[in-house]
Order: sequence, then C-alpha cells, then structure tokens
Amino acid sequence: MIQDFFRSDLSDFKAYEVSKTDYKVRLDANENFSNLPSEVRAKIAWAIEDSIFNRYPDGAASEVCARYAEYANVKSTNVMAGNGSDECIQIIANTFLNTGDKVLVQSPDFSMYGLYTKVAGGIPIEFPLGNELKLDINGFISMANEKKVKIVFLSNPNNPTGGIIQREDIIKIINGCSCIVVIDEAYFEFYGKTIVDKIESYENLIVLRTCSKVGLAAIRLGFLITNNVLMAELKKVKPPFNVNAISQCIACVILKQPEIIYKNVECILNQRKYLWQKLKDINGIQLYRTGGNFMLIQVENAQKMKERLLQAGINVRSFTAATLKNYLRITVGSREENDYLLKNISCKNGGII
Ligand SMILES: *Cc1c(COP(=O)(O)O)cnc(C)c1O
Repeated sequence: MIQDFFRSDLSDFKAYEVSKTDYKVRLDANENFSNLPSEVRAKIAWAIEDSIFNRYPDGAASEVCARYAEYANVKSTNVMAGNGSDECIQIIANTFLNTGDKVLVQSPDFSMYGLYTKVAGGIPIEFPLGNELKLDINGFISMANEKKVKIVFLSNPNNPTGGIIQREDIIKIINGCSCIVVIDEAYFEFYGKTIVDKIESYENLIVLRTCSKVGLAAIRLGFLITNNVLMAELKKVKPPFNVNAISQCIACVILKQPEIIYKNVECILNQRKYLWQKLKDINGIQLYRTGGNFMLIQVENAQKMKERLLQAGINVRSFTAATLKNYLRITVGSREENDYLLKNISCKNGGII
C-alpha cells in the first residue's frame, strides 16, 4: 500500500482549512480591511515591469532585509526574510529541533507553532492561560525549565486573545528560560511596543514580524530578527530562494515609503477604538482588551452567533478548541463593515444570541 510510505506520526493531521473568501464582510483573518491605494498599486506595476523574470531571485532578499532593518531599527545582518512569518516559524523548528525535543507554547496561541513543531518531529507542550486569559509568567518559566524545552514560542500581542505581555515580563522570560525564546510580533504595528532592540543583548532571543497584517497579506512576506550566532545556524536551513522576486519588488516599493503602512495602521486603530466602544456597551458580550487589529469576545453561544453573522454575510473566527468554545475573534473592519457587524450582532429581541 502506498500508505505504508507515509509518516505514521502525521496520520491524525488534518489539512489546514482556509475559510471561504466569498463572504461580503471578512472579519476572520486579521487582514487589513482596505487594499493599497491605486497610486501605490500603479507604482508597484511599474516596478514589476522592470523585474528580471528569467533569473532566480536574490536568495538573501538583501534589499528587502536592508529596508526592513531600517523600518525596524536593527542591522540588516540581523534580518532574514521568509515566505510569510509562517515559514520563519518552520525554519526555526527545523533548525533547532531533534526528534522528540519539546517546545512550550501558551494555550491559546497561534496554532502554527504546534504544527511546525510536530512536522519537525518535536513535541509541543501547552501551558494554559489563567484567569482573564493572562499568562502566569513564573509558572511558564518553571514549566519551560522543568520540561527542558528547546524553544518557547509566544505571540505578543497574543493571537487570538489580543492580550499583551509587558516588556519586563518578556525580559523575565528571556532571562529565565534556558532555551530559545521566540517572540512573535505579528501585531507590532497595532501595539507599538517591541523587544527587537534586545536581540543583541541576549543569546536566546528571536523576534518575528510580518507584512501580512498591515496590508500586504497577498505577497507572503515575514521576517525573523536575531543575533549573528543564531542567524548563522538558521541560514543553514533556510530554503535558498524562499522569497520570490515579485514579493521582494513589491515590499521594496512599500518599505521605501513606510508612510503607507503608518497611514493604514492609523485607520485601523481608529476603527478599533470605534468598534471597542460599541461592543463594550452590548450586554452579554465579554470583551477582551486587545493589542492587535482584532478583538476576542466571549458570548453565551458562539456557534449560534457565528451562524447568524454568516447568514448576514459576515465571517468571524470561531474555534474548535474546547477552551475557546464560546469565543469569537473579530477582525477590525472599515467603519461600514463595523456598523454592519454591530447591527447584526444583536438579534431582533434585543438579546445578543
Ligand atoms: C498572522 C500571524 C502570523 C502569520 O503571518 P504570515 O507572515 O502571514 O505567515 C504569525 N504569527 C501570528 C501570531 C499571526 O497572527
């Protein structure tokens, strides 16, 4: 049987199901709600016209990394580009994990940490968040050391909770865990604080960033930022031409004019404030503080609410994990989308279910 050649440890894996994209209002994937302005897209078209199509792209994505380094205020030698930060997560797992090595993650957190750990032959261990979805910092550090994990992954702000770990606690984790500490700052732009200034102060720190949440999800571009020693090891595993020439070209156009990103972020933050204020006043919704471009809510029956929203053409993120059964994650939309969501979130008799 051909199945005899399959990996037995992948037998209970399921293909990642990407939700359908034909909903009128898409508030499920933490994307930016607006496309790039047409004059920026025109500029991109001009730049692509000059691309070299017959040659492989720059394998190190040097110009993109240099421009991102400027944007992130680090040295370009400390930056590696990936085909989305997803790929950076995979490169990290593949670089440091031997079969059976353990990795510590929070639960809930971004699901790809566990997936790429398993694909690399590692074992993810979940540390449940406590009251109000807060992380017990000391407990987390103790668990990392007791279980002798090789890597801890933490998103900050956390996806899906929106929660934030303060800088002094991040530093406590980096100092306290005797392993590699990956801080995933996918939502940095909406939080405004970073630990990237510390990459050269600690031998065990890796920071992740992405372009996906600030209006460039289509080009699949993320970054890994770390010190020279870890970088040299990670480079051994990075696929040689992982970021295609077109994505590199587009990213350079944008990063030459970071105002495009700043403007986007400002719009999203205004809408986040608006949506927050409105949701806060609805009875029956527990709303969590957020540092991202999304917010987590807890309701009495999330499945029912999700279905009602889908009937109105609105897709929000629900979860299969038992711990998030009655939670929904809502990406901040445009003013119109947010108003439409708010109109549909309460049902006719005034209740929210
Ligand atoms: C969206 C997201 C990513 C994935 O980013 P890509 O660059 O699109 O692969 C990584 N980490 C977290 C926490 C995210 O929410």
